[in-house]
Amino acid sequence: MARIALVTGASRGIGRAIALRLARDGFRIWANYSGSQEAAESLCAEIIAAGGSAKPLQFNVADGEQTTRVLEAIIEEEEGPEVVVSNAGITRDGLMAMMSAKEWQAVIDTNLGGFFHVTKACLRPMLRKRNGRVIAISSVSGEAGNAGQVNYSASKAGLIGACKALAKEIASRKITVNVVAPGFVETDMVKDLPKEELAKQVPLGRFGTVQEIAAAVAFLAGPEASYITGQVLGVNGGMYM
Ligand code: NAP
Repeated sequence: MARIALVTGASRGIGRAIALRLARDGFRIWANYSGSQEAAESLCAEIIAAGGSAKPLQFNVADGEQTTRVLEAIIEEEEGPEVVVSNAGITRDGLMAMMSAKEWQAVIDTNLGGFFHVTKACLRPMLRKRNGRVIAISSVSGEAGNAGQVNYSASKAGLIGACKALAKEIASRKITVNVVAPGFVETDMVKDLPKEELAKQVPLGRFGTVQEIAAAVAFLAGPEASYITGQVLGVNGGMYM
């Protein structure tokens, strides 16, 4: 039986590309989404049509109770995922002086809280099997900071700290924990940004593609990355070195 990869926020953008790539690499996909049921179902249909296996899984990663309930039920029914990709994320941008506590909290709860709830729910079977890969999608904003994004930058920097700490906690069980930190990538999340202007800030002169992020995740999930843990892999066209 093929191994399972859970990808959160798989209905659109980077998560969708990660799910497609890991399916191509032979994983059975659990494709989490929050609201985009149709998109998640169409992703799974595409994977199945190509000869793979995928199922949509609805839960809000910011809701710890719901996330734990859904994941514990499916893990009990099938088995635990070998690869967990915490990709689901949101932005609520604005200068800090204008930012509401609600905007701050929503981003922290989804981007950082989501990682905690999802990873914790999948950890026990990984520990038992002494095998697993945990991968979090951070951002160049979490490494360098970005004006207008104190909430987002804090959540993404938090992921880096959390992954380094977890990597130390579970390395003895042969589970690796790593971070992929993209720069600008063409998805819904950045559709309102001035693309040509921003591309000038990127040494490689362009936005990244979702496939380029998925390739980094596939590497960290694959056999050739077995000795890499606690690392941050920047996929950012040179924006942050
Ligand atoms: P996107 O196109 O906006 O897609 C976001 C995905 O996350 C969707 O599948 C969405 O599901 C899901 N999601 C959002 N909130 C959720 C929740 N509470 N529970 C479960 N799923 C949730 O974003 P993207 O650009 O692909 O970004 C993916 C990740 O990469 C994010 O963590 C983002 O911070 C990071 N990133 C993106 C860029 C960039 O330039 N695009 C750069 C650096 C880092 P629904 O469709 O169901 O809403």
